[in-house]
Amino acid sequence: MKERNIILGIDGIPFELMKSLSEKGIMPNFKDLKRSFYFREMKSSIPHISSVSWSSIITGKNPGEHGIFGFTDLIRGTYTLNYPNFNALKSKTFWHQNHEKTHVIINVPATYPAKSLNGVHIAGFVALDLEKAIFPKKYSYILKKLNYMIDIDSSLAHQQSQDKLFDQLIKVLEIRKKTYQYFWDKLDWHNFMVVITSTDRFGHFLWNTYHNSENIGHSRALQFFQKIDDFIGDLRDRLKEDDNFIILSDHGMEEIKQNMNLNTYLEQENLLKLSNRHKNYNRILEGTKAFVLDPGRVYLNKKGLYPNGSVSKEDEIGVIEELKKIFHELKYKNQKVIKRVHEKYEIYNGALIDKAPDLVVLENPGFNPKGGIGKKIIFEDDDFSGMHNDSAFLFINKDIDLKTPKVEDVVGLLGGNT
Ligand SMILES: [Zn+2]
Repeated sequence: MKERNIILGIDGIPFELMKSLSEKGIMPNFKDLKRSFYFREMKSSIPHISSVSWSSIITGKNPGEHGIFGFTDLIRGTYTLNYPNFNALKSKTFWHQNHEKTHVIINVPATYPAKSLNGVHIAGFVALDLEKAIFPKKYSYILKKLNYMIDIDSSLAHQQSQDKLFDQLIKVLEIRKKTYQYFWDKLDWHNFMVVITSTDRFGHFLWNTYHNSENIGHSRALQFFQKIDDFIGDLRDRLKEDDNFIILSDHGMEEIKQNMNLNTYLEQENLLKLSNRHKNYNRILEGTKAFVLDPGRVYLNKKGLYPNGSVSKEDEIGVIEELKKIFHELKYKNQKVIKRVHEKYEIYNGALIDKAPDLVVLENPGFNPKGGIGKKIIFEDDDFSGMHNDSAFLFINKDIDLKTPKVEDVVGLLGGNT
């Protein structure tokens, strides 16, 4: 009998929320599952964002090996922003490690453009063109028939209409369900992975609707999570006896208190100097010691690497110490906002560590670290309601011995030699 693996990704749902939704009876299907099997908090990637975390989940590698450190990067040797996509992923996904087996992969973030595989792949966000988001192309008519959507229309989030947003989230969720059901029946597969991303959008735009029971959107939030649970139940009911069923998130979510414009802080501390000519990071002038890319990735402005590089090899250790000190000193209303500053060697290993940020700043709850250039003030309110944290979760329907699971561990749990 062949051993199959079914992976359901639920983007942006923290361990505590998943636990409380099931305990409060809002997610009865998941409650049943978690009662008899393994369910734990899982540490997200560093930084805890979807592109990095999913890249680790599907390859079993850390960013120093797979090369995805964020949604953005700089083109090597320049200050020009670049958006790494699936082609920039330098480690093999589990579906590219085994061509003997058939895989169905739906909506995994950061897997655009879709590449050839034995099976079907529909890429998740950021996916610019639906035609390039599916392999093989012969199935694109199915997506059209299903009115397939990769993501919700996020512009709705700025129109202050909670109802319209909820309608979209549920619509996209239902389309995802129909799509997975189609391919579930259509192919004889070994590995089946589908990711729900409506949950992350819920977290960013509507987090308070669930967490504040007075909120007018509260009942819709409960209804939304019931739909997520229906999705889980629908999958569970299709399982065969020997199937491995994994449910996981890539990172968690929490209420946002303030955005922190870290480059503005570096400017105030005289570590970042900007011209008024050019745009974005191209404004960086000589004399700059460091700059930050989203979310809290700090790069030394190294001589010989960047056009206006100003930190020599001998000065690197000193600048790193200075940066750590000032980040630890940063306060909002007397409250420390940075929990930890990691050096790259503490958190990454592998051949691509050269591309890694020199430091990664981890925030205290609610303080959202930002890159971006030219903001006037350090601390700012945000229109959004939620921001990521590092508390993901992992469920699997068997007994395993993993005390503190990490996103890199997931591939190792797949049965049947993937
Ligand atoms: Zn998100």
